[in-house]
This record gives sequence, structure tokens and C-alpha cells, in this order.
Amino acid sequence: MDLKNFTWSVDSDGIALLTWDMPGKSMNVIDESVGHDLNAAVDAAVADAAVKGVVITSGKDTFSGGADLTMLERLGQTFKDAIKAKGPEAAMADFFEQSRAYSLVLRKIETCGKPFVCAINGMCLGGAFEIALACHARVASDNPKLRVGLPEVKVGLFPGAGGTQRVPRMADIQSALQMLLKGDQLKADRAKAMNLIDEIVPADKLIEAAKARLKAGVDPVKPWDKPKFKLPSGPVYSAGGMMVWPPANALYRKETYDNYPGARAIMSAVYEGLLVPMDTALRIESRYFASVLRTPQAQAMIRSLFVSMGALGKGLRRPAGVPATQLKSIGVIGAGFMGAGIAYVSAQAGMDVVLIDRDVEAAEKGKAYSHKLMTDQVNKGRATSAQREALLAKIKASADYADLKDVDLVIEAVFEDPAVKADVIKKAEAAIRPDVVFASNTSTLPITGLAKASVRPEQFIGIHFFSPVDKMMLVETILAEKTGDKALAVALDYVKAIKKTPIVVNDTRGFYVNRCVGNYIKEAHLMVMEGVPTVMIDNLAKQAGMPVGPLTLNDEVAIDLGLKILKATKAQVGTQAVDPQQEKLLTFMVEQEGRIGKKAKKGFYDYPDTGKKTAWQGIKALVGTQQDPDTIDRQEIIDRLLVTTALEASRCVEEGVVTDPREADVGSILGFGFAPWSGGTLSYIDMIGTRAFVKKCDALAAKYGDRFTPNKLLREMADKGETFYGRMTAKKAAA
Ligand code: NAD
Repeated sequence: MDLKNFTWSVDSDGIALLTWDMPGKSMNVIDESVGHDLNAAVDAAVADAAVKGVVITSGKDTFSGGADLTMLERLGQTFKDAIKAKGPEAAMADFFEQSRAYSLVLRKIETCGKPFVCAINGMCLGGAFEIALACHARVASDNPKLRVGLPEVKVGLFPGAGGTQRVPRMADIQSALQMLLKGDQLKADRAKAMNLIDEIVPADKLIEAAKARLKAGVDPVKPWDKPKFKLPSGPVYSAGGMMVWPPANALYRKETYDNYPGARAIMSAVYEGLLVPMDTALRIESRYFASVLRTPQAQAMIRSLFVSMGALGKGLRRPAGVPATQLKSIGVIGAGFMGAGIAYVSAQAGMDVVLIDRDVEAAEKGKAYSHKLMTDQVNKGRATSAQREALLAKIKASADYADLKDVDLVIEAVFEDPAVKADVIKKAEAAIRPDVVFASNTSTLPITGLAKASVRPEQFIGIHFFSPVDKMMLVETILAEKTGDKALAVALDYVKAIKKTPIVVNDTRGFYVNRCVGNYIKEAHLMVMEGVPTVMIDNLAKQAGMPVGPLTLNDEVAIDLGLKILKATKAQVGTQAVDPQQEKLLTFMVEQEGRIGKKAKKGFYDYPDTGKKTAWQGIKALVGTQQDPDTIDRQEIIDRLLVTTALEASRCVEEGVVTDPREADVGSILGFGFAPWSGGTLSYIDMIGTRAFVKKCDALAAKYGDRFTPNKLLREMADKGETFYGRMTAKKAAA
């Protein structure tokens, strides 16, 4: 048998071992050829009377992370081409058959008449877990890193190869829906409790155990292919079913605001599929899969959350020709809120850290943050105390710059004051090796200005983290005027080492992410001044798909910080750069009312020690009677919040702050959660269409003022019918 991705051997008991081990790849991924191989293997098993059963396993450290989503991206493109070539109906028919080919292969495993056992040795996700579910039994190793799950919903898709049908036929319906809708990755014991795994065995006994199962006899007919099959939670139309489905629908709406076609399709496919026999159910699932795959939301999410994020993580922007750096130790100056977090993530990545502050006590305080985070992990059973001690041993708290003599990179996170930073830069540069790169974590000061204090401006760069550092996956790397390739390469190697995703932007006030998020919050401030109720603004933002409403976000970031930035902008750029209404609100909140945000338990909301936050009613003293919510145009509020944010991204493109739409999109989702269903700020504009977006902006500008006036680039693009991604493709083709 000629298999591209698997090896096949049959032992003396007639048990075939089908080992998935894709040549030249560190991980197994599902592409077109994997389906062909599985199909051939099933045919071979059926044709050979000597084969009594088959064990499917992996030859890699993990089983497989699932499908190569670029394959689905290609499928989408093929569909678009086919519409042009054959017309929509024929294209749709082809697309349906192509997108369900893999599902049919798995159904063939399930119904071929010979028993298949899946031996899961490590992470087994998405389309790979669907192979396991199609087998007649599943044995998992006790590898602590093992996870099984169907995470497709997280990239806008849904499991399209039987996952939505087999899981709720094996597990109780509540657990099944939760797993599918959240895309949870389950540990082996949880999967076993849900009946998705039959047995957990020591890693070195995995194949033996799978074979033993076959020898003991595994029924090659699935329960649902037998006439008397009963669903684990009973029929859909039953008293039990009625207890599940109406609240499940409500929960679905609460979690997604109906923004995600993939999640909606899960609900429909499970509900409809459980009413019919398996083959029809799989056809229903395939229909939803094909339709979800064609939605702009799924296409944009696959592009940003899988393809672009993957490419950026692998070094899309790394200058070629600079040898990779192995950062063994780094210096972090400023052991406050951010510096403490940077020290922690660096030590987690195995680096030695010299953590410097004005005195050793302050530095130790910063180190104590790592102790706290590790203790939380120990308490949750995710780390041992020995691991905590090992991590703490990597961090040296100090007040002596001489301790920086051996570090390979320095990141400063001292007070946001150019004079303080200049002093730190001088002291650090006097202590470090001449080849070492110096990075600033400033959030508001242009890097080019700070680099003036450096004697090696070509080795000076911005590495801008987001808070909390241990949770936020984005790092914005900022190029100053003189930043050289080596500094960028080192910064990107560092970001890769700490397993975060970098975007590279050019120097400007607020860089990219904070410019966009600043607009999002500013629009909410102006709405407050118009008398829109606080809670309504935040709730509508969440309905728009934002994870956190702008006023809640402002409370978390700190309102006094906002006022400080506004004052600095006014001083440095001029009065015209700030909106008087916003200034009035922030001055009232901070200087008159002392409402500086969550840190003081009072901002736009009150934060009682126990119980939920409540909207602060004192705002009415400034804005007067608020508008009646029933008279407010919901969609307009949603549009204003998303449009002002996306418009700023488009200005950043025009000014050359961001140079690649993929970075703008990924940065907006990882940096502040810009409506992930849209694929990010620029995908949002592309999805609406530049012409329609410009029209929307003009209408909002007529009503609310110039801040909505589209930038020149956007108008030109609208005139030519261009999109941001279309321009990128054209630029690449021309290069
Ligand atoms: P912070 O006030 O919590 O910490 C600053 C630390 O720097 C303090 O521990 C202080 O003692 C120390 N420090 C001050 N002068 C020093 C000196 N001369 N030498 C050594 N240490 C000195 O501030 P933070 O929130 O951690 O912010 C630090 C930097 O990170 C700022 O540039 C800020 O703009 C940036 N930043 C902050 C955030 C955020 O959300 N807080 C996000 C991104 C970037």
C-alpha cells in the first residue's frame, strides 16, 4: 500500500498498526493527502482477511493539532474561482462535496466492518480528534500534556467531520454543547468522564493496551448504527430535552451575541442532527460546515487568527540575514507593574533576569510578583513548589547597574518620564556590552525621541507589552528612525522566546494599538457626554463583539492615566489635538470627583468589596438627565464604536505606522480584542467594503463631526473599489 503520511504493519495476531508520521514535519496536520491515505488504509484493512483490527496512532510526540487551515483557505479561493468559471450553483455543489470528503472517509472507518482503536499519545485536536471519535474505541496515554478537543469554533469554524454528531451521541448533551461551543481542550480524565475516551494507560503501554482491547473484542458497529440506540441525555423532543435546549439557546446568545456563524451552526447542527440517523446527521453537519466556511467571518477569522498569527509568530517581519540570537539573560529596569511582569515571562522562558529598580527593596517587590504568580499556579496544581523556586532563582533583584554586564538584552519599564528614562539609558549603556540591544516599554513616548539619549541609536528599539504581561499575547515592536535590522531581529527573537506574537510598527504617538483603543474609549466618553447611559454603552460594545466595554476598560486601565495622556498630548501637539468634551469629562471624573478607576474602586462604576459593580449615578451631575434608552439607536452606537476604531487603523496604514494589514488585524485582536468575528480592524473595513465603509463614515461625520471623516487613502481605495488585503496581494504580485 502506498501511503504518504502513515506507516502500516500487521502483527502475527492480525492487528494492523497505522502510524501517522508525516515525513519532514514536526507535527502531523490534516491536509488533502491525509484523507486519501486513511481511505486507502480502510480499503486495505477490509480487503485483507488476515487483518482483524486496526490501531491508529502517531509517530510524533503529539497525535495532531488538527487541520492545516491554509487548506480551508485554499478551498475558499477555489470556490470563488469556481463561481466565475461554472456559476454559483455548480460551484456550491462542488464545494459541498469537497468540504465533506474528509467526513465521508471517517464515516467509512466507522462503518467498514472491522474494528479500529485510536491510541492517543498526546495532543489530539480538531479533525484529528474526529478520527479518534470515528474509531470504535479510544485509549489515551497518561501523558500530562495530552489534550483532546474540538477548538474549531475559536477560529470561526465548527467541527465538520462528525464532531458535532458523535460527541453528543457519546457524552451528555450539556457537556457536549459546552465543549463544542467553547472549543475547550480536555485533559484525559475529563474526556474519559465524558465517555469520549475509554481508557487511560501508562504512555509506554499505549499500543499494547490498544491491541489488547482489539484482542478482547471491540464491536465494529457503533451504538448509533444499531436500531435500539438511545441518546445519552434522551431524545431532543422530551421533557429532558426541553430542559436543555431553550436555556442552551439563551446561553449561546449571551456568550456570542450571535456574532459567530460557526457557533450558531454548532447549535443548529447538533439540534437537527440528533433528530435523524447518523448518515443524514452527517449530511446536515456537512451542509452547515460548507455554509460556515463560505461566510466572510470564518474566512477573516481563519486568516487573522490562524494564518497571519502563525506567520507573525514564525518571524514574518524578522530581517533575513541576521543570525538567530539565543538570549540567555536579560536585564529589566524598573520593577513596577510592567517590569515585574516582563521579568516573570522572561524567566518562564528560561532566561536569567537581572531586575533593577532604584533600591533593592523595590526590585525585590517586583520579584515577589513572580512568587505570587507561581504560587497561584502551585495552588491550582499547575506547577510544583520546586518549579516555583527554580523560576525565582532565575531572577536577581538588584539596584546595581553593574549587574547588567552579561545580559543579552535590556528592557526598561521605569516611570513614563523622558528625563528619568534618559538617565536610565545612560547608566545602562555604560554597563552593558556594546553589542547589546536596549528596548523601551514606553506606551506614550516616541522611541525616536528616547533614542536621542542613547549612544547607540541603531541598537535602540521599542518593545511594548500590554498589561497584564503574563496574559496578553501581543507585543508591539516599535522602530525608531535609526533602529537597525539587528535590533529588530533581537527583539523578535526575544518575543518568540517568550511565546508571544509580535507586530512591528513605526514610531508615532500612541504607536498602533493604543491609537485604536484610544479612539474606542474616546467615543464612549463622548457618548457619556451626550447622555447615553454608561451601562448601555458597555453592553452595546459587547454586542458588537468587544470582550470588554470601553468604560469598563477605561476603569481598568485607570481614568487618571487617560487624563495624563490627554494633557501631555495637549502640551506637545496643541489644543486642537484634544476634544474639549472629553477633557471636560476626564477632568470632572479625576480632579473634581477623584474617580480614577477600578484601582480606587470608583470610576464609571462603583466597585463594592462584595458583589457586582454598579454604574455610578453621579455622572448625571455633569451630563444632566440621561437619554431614554428606548430612544437611542442601538446600531448607531455599535457602528460608532467599531468605525472610529477601524478608521484609526486605516489612518495608521496611510501614515505608514502599520505596513501590513495582517499586523493591523492581529494587533487589534490580541491587543484589545477588536471584535474577533470581523478578523480585526482592517478586515472589518474590507468585510463591509471600502465604499460602504466610507459612506458610513461620511454619514457619521455629518452627524457627529470630523473625527469620522475618512482619510484620503480610504477615499482613494473606495473610488477604485480596493480592499486592504487586495492591495497587499497586488503589492506582493508586483514585487
Ligand atoms: P510603575 O510605576 O508600576 O513602575 C515603574 C517602576 O520604575 C517603579 O518600580 C519605580 O521604582 C521604577 N523606577 C523609577 N525610576 C527608576 C530609575 N531611575 N531606575 C530604576 N527604576 C526606576 O509603572 P508601570 O505601569 O510598570 O509602567 C512602566 C513603563 O511601562 C512606563 O513607561 C509605561 O508607559 C509603560 N507601560 C505601562 C503599561 C501599563 O498598563 N501600566 C502598559 C504598557 C507600557
